Amino acid sequence: KEGHNRVCCYDEVADSKMMDYHYLSQDMDRALQEGEFVLYFQPQFSFATGKQTGFEALVRWAHKDRGVISPNIFIPIAEQNGLIIPISEFVLRKACQVASKWETPLKVAVNLSPIQMRQCAISDLVTETLLETGLDPKRLELEVTESLFIDINDEISADLLLLQRRGISIALDDFGTGYSSLAYLTSFPFDKIKIDRSFVQNLANDDSSMAIISAVIGMGKSLNMQITAEGIEDKRAYEILRLAGVDQAQGFLLGEPRDIEAEPEQTTQTPLL
Ligand code: C2E
Ligand code: CA
Ligand code: CA
Ligand code: CA
Repeated sequence: KEGHNRVCCYDEVADSKMMDYHYLSQDMDRALQEGEFVLYFQPQFSFATGKQTGFEALVRWAHKDRGVISPNIFIPIAEQNGLIIPISEFVLRKACQVASKWETPLKVAVNLSPIQMRQCAISDLVTETLLETGLDPKRLELEVTESLFIDINDEISADLLLLQRRGISIALDDFGTGYSSLAYLTSFPFDKIKIDRSFVQNLANDDSSMAIISAVIGMGKSLNMQITAEGIEDKRAYEILRLAGVDQAQGFLLGEPRDIEAEPEQTTQTPLL
């Protein structure tokens, strides 16, 4: 239609993704002001006792027109437009506030973005938030991903160590998905390793996933780290992981992430026992 021997490719999917990207990026500030970000909580259980040990806090965008938007979509956008900073502050404060009101002293795990951590001192924010909400530092866990360690600097390491000395635990999330997972294990004394759900989900039909999980358990134990398996969706995987010696379990089988402020009832025992 544009004439003159021109050929133009049009990719409808890519185009709508771009429009979405711009729309969501520009709408994010409004959403923050209007309180559209909400926190869901997914329970975590001890394999040894079957009792709940804590919750992982997972953010959602409850958009006025578009319904619930996944963090997989908006976190990368927020990391680019800078709003990851106020969103992370909201998540941390809300998670600590909610946890401080629970009757049982369960732990709460909060995800940190590497972009956020390179932009501001995380120890100041965490210290202030704990003071403000009165949550015991021993009840807070911070989940960092392997991508943080690709170019970790002394400042970030020192910050994390400081928090660890105050009783906060540091977990390495999505373990095994990076390029040099093993190298990162020696770069910081993590309290916990979270085996990525891709290994857990391949467990049933893939021997190499089991081999990797066994190796991670052995390594984690010798480095004095706890092991959590995430993404447990069926009873069979649960049993295999329990027998293999994994410490904590998380997954849809045991409980999906939900808005527990709306439903204050807590699960404190795995539905399997
Ligand atoms: P993640 O940290 O690996 O979080 C676990 C994700 O696995 C969650 O997805 C959870 O809903 C999902 N999941 C839990 N159990 C199962 C299961 O049995 N099967 C399957 N298929 N999935 C399961 P969600 O909530 O969509 O979060 C996606 C990612 O977004 C998170 O992955 C995390 O990287 C990021 N994210 C979420 N909340 C925050 C946040 O507050 N801050 C930052 N920086 N990132 C966040
Ligand atoms: Ca996580
Ligand atoms: Ca994970
Ligand atoms: Ca992840």
